[in-house]
Amino acid sequence: MPPALSKPHLPAAFMASVQAAPCMAGYKSAVFEEDAHDHRVACCNWSAPRAPDLQFCYGPQSNRAMLGFTVEAKRTTLHLAALEGDVLAACELIRLGATVDAADSRGLTPLSLAVAHMSTCKNPQTPHPPAAKRDVAMTFLRLAYVSRILIQQHANVHIKYDDIPILEIACSIQNWELIELLLQHGAKPLNEYLSYFDSRAERARFISLRSSYASSIRPARLCRCWSGKPLAECHGAAAQRYPEDFICACGSKKTYKRCCHARSHFIIEKWDEGLQRIMPHFTTTSPAYSRMGKDVDPKKLNILDQLAQEISAAAGLPLPSAPSADKISRIVMETLELLASRGLVDLAFLYAYRQIGSIPQPRARAYSEHLALERQSKWNEAVDEYIQQGNDPRPRFEIERAAKIGKWQGALIRMCEGAGCTNVEGVGGIKLQMCGKCKIAVYCSVGCQRSAWTTHKALCCSEDQHEQMLPSQANIVKASSTVMGNAPAFTDNLIRQGQLLTGQLPKS
Ligand SMILES: [Zn+2]
Ligand SMILES: [Zn+2]
Ligand SMILES: [Zn+2]
Ligand SMILES: [Zn+2]
Repeated sequence: MPPALSKPHLPAAFMASVQAAPCMAGYKSAVFEEDAHDHRVACCNWSAPRAPDLQFCYGPQSNRAMLGFTVEAKRTTLHLAALEGDVLAACELIRLGATVDAADSRGLTPLSLAVAHMSTCKNPQTPHPPAAKRDVAMTFLRLAYVSRILIQQHANVHIKYDDIPILEIACSIQNWELIELLLQHGAKPLNEYLSYFDSRAERARFISLRSSYASSIRPARLCRCWSGKPLAECHGAAAQRYPEDFICACGSKKTYKRCCHARSHFIIEKWDEGLQRIMPHFTTTSPAYSRMGKDVDPKKLNILDQLAQEISAAAGLPLPSAPSADKISRIVMETLELLASRGLVDLAFLYAYRQIGSIPQPRARAYSEHLALERQSKWNEAVDEYIQQGNDPRPRFEIERAAKIGKWQGALIRMCEGAGCTNVEGVGGIKLQMCGKCKIAVYCSVGCQRSAWTTHKALCCSEDQHEQMLPSQANIVKASSTVMGNAPAFTDNLIRQGQLLTGQLPKS
């Protein structure tokens, strides 16, 4: 049996509305094929994401060269989707980060290809056989659809095909929907285009459209998540939750719901103006309630998330947005600098935080292994960089011991956890062995394990257990728990409020 293919990264309602268009009847979009699945999975890889503008990585193999998709032509997959009139494929590629105005070796963009192809559908070099007439008519409508999508995404409307502006092409085929849309989005109407219209009425229509859009501003760009909202009111305004049925961004190839979300390792997405695409970010706090700090029980946060979704859906309101990421990172940075100035956070640790932008936190393997390894290597590379700079007189081992992290985000170089024992892993041939039960606590000898058991047994395999922390990590947790100390009570109260609102709890 072939492997199950993932679902397209598009909202279900949006997909249904596209597929309900008459021109989509009987058309099978490439998004449901294996190539698209592979592309989707390859783009969702935190450590090495595939470039979204990769050359034609899916679509029909046989006639690519005929359609102008040679290696030299430098056309992207979005060019192919536009030329095919594959609306869903174009939308998903844009969602995955494809450049709307990617130019091929002749400077042609997906929009210019779609509009030019509309023209060849209308005026074929050789007449279409009668049997093909219906197919051509349907293709024409799909191309018009894809053009509309691209224009609404603020594709360049001044682009030319064979030196002819696309508005002129729209006039030459007298497609009023496209003409109006292009004018609305700022395409330049020239007087000579009037010659494409035979009747006085058509010329008057063109003149009237031209004057009605002459000084109007371009309609707002729609968000690339296809929520239907303008970008400035969606991912452009605030971070949004990553959809649970999408492939997880960590690179595990599983759905987010079954991967990082289940481990309370949340993904939020935000518009990146520099990259011009929606970018995922990992956070250990629930997107809807991240203001409550990092030490709230993740299970409660999951419940809160679901409640927030239900309440906002019932009330027809948008989800409360997370506080600005900039603000959070500024506060965290100031706190770490303060702790470092008091000797509570190691300077190498602070340096790595500046490079990476998030604090590693051991959480008893509650991470995707893929993500954990990736974070470990990035963090430790930053520590190496710090050592390389040579401003710290301490021996390398001391710095590594103070700042490097292990796979599960705790200390890389650990101490024996036996009562009063100060043996360090790797020093003087010391080897540490794990507690056989939890496989998290480490000891240098059976004696040390026995001595620790009275205190360890309460913690062993409990929810509060985590891998041995670096002193910097432990001090950060201590500092933040004094700030967030009352968060659990706050959470309980919120859960009660939510239950009251949704009728799960009777009003007393
Ligand atoms: Zn959006
Ligand atoms: Zn994941
Ligand atoms: Zn020991
Ligand atoms: Zn144990």
